[in-house]
Amino acid sequence: MSLPFELRANPRPRSDAERAAIMADPGFGLNFTDHMAVATWTSADGWHDSAIVPYGPFSIDPATAVLHYAQEVFEGLKAYQHADGSVWLFRPEKNAERFVRSANRLALPVLEPDDFLGSIEALVAADAAWVPSTGEQSLYLRPFMFASEAFLGVRAARRVTYCCIASPAGPYFAGGVNPVKIWVSMTYTRAASGGTGAAKCGGNYAASLIAQQEAAEHGCDQVMFADAAEHQWLEELGGMNVYLITADHELITPELSGSILEGVTRDSILDLAKEFGLTPVERRVSVPELLEGIGSGFVTELFACGTAAVITPIGELHLRDDVYTVAGGGTGEITTALRNTLLDIQYGRAEDSRGWLT
Ligand code: PMP
Repeated sequence: MSLPFELRANPRPRSDAERAAIMADPGFGLNFTDHMAVATWTSADGWHDSAIVPYGPFSIDPATAVLHYAQEVFEGLKAYQHADGSVWLFRPEKNAERFVRSANRLALPVLEPDDFLGSIEALVAADAAWVPSTGEQSLYLRPFMFASEAFLGVRAARRVTYCCIASPAGPYFAGGVNPVKIWVSMTYTRAASGGTGAAKCGGNYAASLIAQQEAAEHGCDQVMFADAAEHQWLEELGGMNVYLITADHELITPELSGSILEGVTRDSILDLAKEFGLTPVERRVSVPELLEGIGSGFVTELFACGTAAVITPIGELHLRDDVYTVAGGGTGEITTALRNTLLDIQYGRAEDSRGWLT
């Protein structure tokens, strides 16, 4: 039996004028809608107390386990409004499945995919007025689950809170698509074999922040991580997967090694490759191979991908004191075409022949 997510009305929803002011320039992750989905799990009773409630702070005991041991997982997906006013999710079952895998890795209880989807659909229905209708805007959804038991012993929590919040998001590239500069970190790694790299847990992101600071100190926007053991195999960015396109029409992404997050966008691009006359390839790519390929011109385009920015062209790779410029530092043709194709499906401008929209 699935969990009910019934709406408990907000005692004070914001006025149309307040909402319009936020929607005029929503930014990213700054403003939140009127409601949130919640549910509680205890080892004794399983999942219960599920509802759509007014958005608001949690009251947290200082001994709450997540604050000490970071037993937490999350997801990120978007709701898109089409020209006819209907609202759609892009492959949300993929996020639901990944949420289960992440929870398993972090010894958290499983929230059944139907309940994950049910919570999101109920929240989006309650806050439909918050789904932006113009440009490349969307309602960003952030489901998460954390150890909410007040206990300092190191073991899997016996009380867990699930929540989903929603945040109107402006276009990622407000001024048009801009290639980014990427710092290839030789100091830090993101994840190791047997670790949590394939799970979407907060600790992975906490551990990546210092590398992000290192990148910023070198004038770069984001970090590319290599594997932890040999420091020479390409993995991914702090929050995006990575692809390269070669002169012989291969669309290559690092294979899932157990330490890479299995991105929904990554998977969708593998599927779209053939439409662009490209052969999709998942295999190990070494950092030297990539740099040589960029140098010789064999690697023609390089991009990062994820829900937030869809596809972000990479214009420069920085490794120690060397700079490698890809596609003349601009945005490659195929990168642009792939990006537009994904956006056209998400925003209902192209036929959804794969049934990716819910
Ligand atoms: N890698 C990492 C580490 C991420 O945080 C994300 C964002 N979820 C991605 C890749 C891209 O995944 P998706 O396409 O599902 O957003």
